[in-house]
Amino acid sequence: SEMCIRDRKKIVVLGAAESGCGAAVLAKKEGFDVFVSDMSKIKDTYKKMLDDHGIEWEEGQHTEERILAADEVIKSPGIPFTAPMMQKIAAKGIHVISEIEFAGRYTDSKMICITGSNGKTTTTSLIYHILTKAGIDAGLAGNIGNSLALQVAENPHPWYVIELSSFQLDNMYDFKADIAILLNITPDHLDRYDFKMQNYTDAKMRITQNQTKDDALIYWSGDPIITEELKKRSDIGGELCPFSENDFTLNQDECCLKGRHNIYNMMAAKIACEKAGIAEDVIIENIKNFRGVEHRLEKIGSVNGVEFINDSKATNVDACYFALESIKGKCVLILGGVDKGNDYNEITPLVKEKCSALVFLGVDNSKLHRSFDSLNLPIADTSSMADCVKACAQLAKPGETVLLSPCCASFDLFKNMEDRGEQFKENFKKLKENK
Ligand code: ADP
Repeated sequence: SEMCIRDRKKIVVLGAAESGCGAAVLAKKEGFDVFVSDMSKIKDTYKKMLDDHGIEWEEGQHTEERILAADEVIKSPGIPFTAPMMQKIAAKGIHVISEIEFAGRYTDSKMICITGSNGKTTTTSLIYHILTKAGIDAGLAGNIGNSLALQVAENPHPWYVIELSSFQLDNMYDFKADIAILLNITPDHLDRYDFKMQNYTDAKMRITQNQTKDDALIYWSGDPIITEELKKRSDIGGELCPFSENDFTLNQDECCLKGRHNIYNMMAAKIACEKAGIAEDVIIENIKNFRGVEHRLEKIGSVNGVEFINDSKATNVDACYFALESIKGKCVLILGGVDKGNDYNEITPLVKEKCSALVFLGVDNSKLHRSFDSLNLPIADTSSMADCVKACAQLAKPGETVLLSPCCASFDLFKNMEDRGEQFKENFKKLKENK
């Protein structure tokens, strides 16, 4: 009836990409009055998804009166709180939630949730790999795969493995992870957290929210920030399941995932899968045969006795630290891009020990020069991937490694970190063909 339609709860979705469109589809299915608004252009595939479901949308603008009439707003993780529209929404006191929070209301499936500053995608993919190999019907969601909301609406699974960034956790309140993994907390994205580490830490710690004694919190006991936070907090309900590298009993030579950081990722995955009820031998077999994820310490081949490794995903200093640590022998390291407030002192000793030369790749390399010139290593300045790979080929000696692990975001010269990694691989191929 007319009355009914007028009383339907209004949901506004801000941001029309994977998570926003998935949330809109689920909201529509659940009978809400849904409106989607995106300040930028919406991709054709997402426009089609919205049209196919009869969902109203706008692009290139935010129609304020329509948005401020919402009962609840679902915000894409990419939109900062400081965006003008978000400020107006806050001033009006409208409740803002994330897509994951919204989807969680409409499913009782088991949730394995992974967060941390580094290692999320690797660990999430590994757990998904083990679960599916063990015959469990699982969905992959969060920052990878299809949105949780879309799967809950159209393709539900009894288990979900969900990668959660701090931005997704920001707007989560009632959602609960049955199995939570907190890999590590090191500085990242501080530009979105008022440059206050505690704000970022608090976002990460939200993964423990609402857990009860039947749930598990798996975390790296060697992380000083996590252990400090756990001491401070009296509201941790889940069973504490710490891990340390000493508990690792596999022979890493038999595993495809290399480097100390991947020992942590494998341990976290193993405990999570045990908690999910998978037999230990099945877990171990599938840890060993997991081949890793593209753009994360990905070996792309050798030319003239020089091995090239694509770690384009290393967009902060800690990731580069572990990448450098995993390199045997000397390497030429590629650094640069958009710096999110990096402290390069953390890698200086390793750079000294492991690097025979540095290649800077960015629009503005001045901070890199200030941080590394005093080491007196050969340094090349480049501002395209073609020049960068040429410089690497000239500087690297047989037996050495060229490592793209740039500590920075990619947006100054590339579309995204995938584009940076792809271009690295294409130029490596050209180099190889010309030899
Ligand atoms: P995320 O999804 O959290 O960004 P990824 O698995 O994509 O994590 O890895 C991101 C980067 O961090 C890669 O460069 C990888 O080599 C490095 N890395 C992976 N796992 C860890 C870890 N446990 N600790 C530190 N660095 C890691």
